Amino acid sequence: MNSDFIEALKNKDLAEIRKISKSDLHNHAPRGGNKRYIEEWKGIKIPDAPIFKNLNEMNDWNLKNIKPFIKGVKGYEKRIEAAFVQANMDGVRLLNMSFNIDEVSEYANSVENMINSLKKIHLKFAPNTVFIPEIALGSYMDTDEVNEKLNEFLHYDYFKSIDIYGDENNLFKFKKVFKKAKNNGLILKAHVGEFGCAELVQRVVEELELNQVQHGISAANSKSVMKWLANNKIQLNICPTSNIYLSRVENYSKHPIRKLYDNGVKVTVNTDDMIIFDKSVSEEFLNLYNAGVFNCEELNEIRENGLKLLHNV
Ligand SMILES: [Zn+2]
Repeated sequence: MNSDFIEALKNKDLAEIRKISKSDLHNHAPRGGNKRYIEEWKGIKIPDAPIFKNLNEMNDWNLKNIKPFIKGVKGYEKRIEAAFVQANMDGVRLLNMSFNIDEVSEYANSVENMINSLKKIHLKFAPNTVFIPEIALGSYMDTDEVNEKLNEFLHYDYFKSIDIYGDENNLFKFKKVFKKAKNNGLILKAHVGEFGCAELVQRVVEELELNQVQHGISAANSKSVMKWLANNKIQLNICPTSNIYLSRVENYSKHPIRKLYDNGVKVTVNTDDMIIFDKSVSEEFLNLYNAGVFNCEELNEIRENGLKLLHNV
């Protein structure tokens, strides 16, 4: 299997790369789907995304070009379906995909109904994919409300990891929430080091006791932070195309993933918001190869990094 991936990359054969097991560990469910699948279902054309200056620009674009066409619980479930269809099509064997804790409102606040629906969609559209459901919190959310909702989510023992996104300087308020999640055996993650500095990455990992970081690319600006991440075996789930579209990185060849890797930081390659960025995990690998960032053997090692959790599921 390993040599198949190396061979497929060498031949730049996307169809073959797709057949080989991969992981996607940084994927926001309602934005993680295949764009063409949604276009066909709705009979619309979603325009190509422009380069965004920041997250607000991206959210505005999403509000204007995607959200109005995919409304209500039916639209929500179609988006989730599109994400599983995408994973299945791209050989994503391990999918750690996140659901905003507020999305339960699509199910009249019944966590049970939400979980039943997710289970059904997973089994119908990606039965061969091992799925790790993740709870996502926004940094803007009220901690007491989150705490209450989290109790209900944890009660069902379905979600196995937790992530925070938003203002990177406003993550510490979830310290208690993360402690509870840790005590319940969840994998702990947060979006940090996408916009914030290297030192912030280390501080957030320490304070919230994270296992993994979503993005974390600014860690490449500090030798000591990279060393600390490497020594503590903190994995960075990196999304190269997302970083380009959000003006964090100029192009693939200049992506700091190489520097992080060279400094011993464990990295994986992921999609983030496929319905916007339109690059699958397979394409991310191929793009890094084409840009000369890694050789085939290194990319294979990164692919295997992402699949390690499979042995614990
Ligand atoms: Zn993300």
